[in-house]
Amino acid sequence: MGNVNGADPPHKGQLDALRALFSLQEKDLEIDRLQKEVESLPEELLSVRAQVEALEGKLQDLLERQAELRKEYNRHSLDIEDLTAKEKQAEAEQRQAQSAREQTQYENRIQQIKDRIKELLELSTPLMEAMENLEEEIAQVEAELAGLRPRLEALLEANRERVEALKQEMAKRLEERAAMAQGIPTTVLKEYEAIRRARKGTGVVRMHRQGQVFRCEGCNVVLPTHVAQKVVQGQLVRCPSCGRLLWKGE
Ligand SMILES: [Zn+2]
Repeated sequence: MGNVNGADPPHKGQLDALRALFSLQEKDLEIDRLQKEVESLPEELLSVRAQVEALEGKLQDLLERQAELRKEYNRHSLDIEDLTAKEKQAEAEQRQAQSAREQTQYENRIQQIKDRIKELLELSTPLMEAMENLEEEIAQVEAELAGLRPRLEALLEANRERVEALKQEMAKRLEERAAMAQGIPTTVLKEYEAIRRARKGTGVVRMHRQGQVFRCEGCNVVLPTHVAQKVVQGQLVRCPSCGRLLWKGE
């Protein structure tokens, strides 16, 4: 904390460096703001995208349900086909039957098969109805999606253009920043960058005079006199409270 450099005043060179650092920070903050803008998507895009995603999820569920129903329906159909063949065979065999007892056995068997077929048909009818309803629902969701997708595409395209423009702005600022950085000693710049990362924003702040006291503009703490003196002299000093570099200002 406190005196980073420890050298004696005056520190004209460091005052210049702090002034330059403060301007550079303004550029950094502009770049931060642009980056935030890049990351924040327009409300309408978010809302339409959420709608499309919800509909896609719903469609997926409906298609899965449809596949299940189809499978069940097909299984019943195959069973019915199989039973019908068995029924025909039993009838043929019944015609060859030698005794009344055998006749009756075949009759019972045929009746059993018929009952089972009837049962399966009764199960198949609601399945058919459910499949028809599902098809309607699927068509409806697909129509809704077809209506929304072009809008989403247009919004995404507009957003790409928006982001592209912002990135060009950022590139310009970054170039300006690089030029500004050349006039600042590397050690000062590195220290500033480390503080800025830790503080998520500002690494250098002005000292603010209020009557007899001096405050740190970063955290508003009243600075001890010996710290304020060093700041005025242009020494590299960090706020004892928030740790930011202090500049005396113009
Ligand atoms: Zn502070």
